[in-house]
Amino acid sequence: MENSSFAKCQKCGTGDLVPLSDFGGQGAAIHYKAWVCTNPDCGYNIKIRNGEVYINEPILSGALHSRSHREFAPK
Ligand SMILES: [Zn+2]
Repeated sequence: MENSSFAKCQKCGTGDLVPLSDFGGQGAAIHYKAWVCTNPDCGYNIKIRNGEVYINEPILSGALHSRSHREFAPK
């Protein structure tokens, strides 16, 4: 029974591409969308930033998170 509302990952064919959203420190939505494969062995990801599409950028989970926090932290 096919009941998937997400796109199948075209790289590994087993995972789904799920959308991720992020929010700034004040709860404002970040204009940044990412679709990431649910298969941890695959790691395929698509990001849309400022109208440009980034495919399969390396994910630096910890570093990326702290960097986005710094960008949105009030000085
Ligand atoms: Zn995949």
